[in-house]
Amino acid sequence: FFGNVQLAPPVAVFKLSADFRADENPKKINLGVGAYRDDDGKPWVLPVVSKVEKQIALDSSLNHEYLPIKGLPEFCDAATKLALGESKCVSEDRAAGVQTLSGTGALRLAADFLFQTFPAETTVLYSNPTWGNHLDIFKRAGFKNLAPYSYWSGDIKAADVSKFVSDLEAAPDRSIILFHSCAHNPTGADPSAEQWEQLAQVVRAKNHFPIFDTAYQGFASGNPDKDAAALRSFADAGFEMMICQSFAKNFGLYNERCGNLVTITQTAQILDNVRSQQELIVRANYSNPPAHGARIVSTVLNTPELNAEWRQNIKEMSDRIDLMRNELRSRLEKLGTPGQWNHVTDQIGMFSFTGLNPDQCNFLKNERSCYLMSNGRISMAGLNSKNIDYFAQCVDEAVRK
Ligand code: PMP
Repeated sequence: FFGNVQLAPPVAVFKLSADFRADENPKKINLGVGAYRDDDGKPWVLPVVSKVEKQIALDSSLNHEYLPIKGLPEFCDAATKLALGESKCVSEDRAAGVQTLSGTGALRLAADFLFQTFPAETTVLYSNPTWGNHLDIFKRAGFKNLAPYSYWSGDIKAADVSKFVSDLEAAPDRSIILFHSCAHNPTGADPSAEQWEQLAQVVRAKNHFPIFDTAYQGFASGNPDKDAAALRSFADAGFEMMICQSFAKNFGLYNERCGNLVTITQTAQILDNVRSQQELIVRANYSNPPAHGARIVSTVLNTPELNAEWRQNIKEMSDRIDLMRNELRSRLEKLGTPGQWNHVTDQIGMFSFTGLNPDQCNFLKNERSCYLMSNGRISMAGLNSKNIDYFAQCVDEAVRK
């Protein structure tokens, strides 16, 4: 049966981590995977998560029965509220979530549902550049017409929103537009509030369908509410839309696969219909979601003291990342590394799009054991007070070669 199956290429970011693990250089640095590390380079279990996990372990009322197909209701409601705040679509019962297998699962459920609902020839527009999986998810859901919209400009090392807007204008009416709500991966550059307003206008004029990927809420500004500004402005403007939430990064629950797909519709009745269809898609895929991550997130979000503690934990992560941005930029400037390095501190979120070219990235990886993506993206969380001098020196060397 399988004699003709070809060997598939490895998934770049996982391959990078495997190469990193195999490297025996004591100075090696992993700047690939978008996962938070503390100042000792170690994965961080958020203290608030650890506290709730202990409570859960001792709670004899809990069991391992199946969750409902759409997930733990109190989790979905709290997650939806985290995205939408006081937007009236929530009180009008026009917005609700379905629990998903983290952000990827939310995107896939959204893509499957959209493919069964929109005409097959619908164009899906995604950011150039974007997180590599976006394209694969929508392709595997069945969409054939996928096209990039302009986002990053290498010249200004920032998002070129006027080109972004004109690409949305040029797209066929009723296209699906996949936005990053905040802390854009990989560029670390987000539109301003006025630019979001311009984007909303073109989405409205062209009858496009907006879908937001929200994998880093809290990492752009350190404040999850501020980071939801784009979502809330679109919701308040009355759009029908979807939001794909991940709790991998902002709760550090990477392997618990905890996410939520929010759908906002015109009426409560339509929302019930839509969610009933999403339920069938989940049923035929994995039947129902896992409970552990959802219990943690719902306990934290629904308990005011724990919620406040969580916001402190996020602030701690985003402050450390900011510190690393400042430290890296100042080191490169001190070394006189050719080029401008202000983008390192201008960019936000977990990543910096360094502008290093593939040769420089290869040198860093192969000759200096600094593992970064070949598009020049580095996860700032991989840097710490012990390895940042080494990394700055290696970048300096790479740029001067
Ligand atoms: N969207 C973006 C932009 C991401 O960077 C990621 C994680 N790297 C995800 C979605 C989904 O991650 P997960 O499935 O682990 O929640």
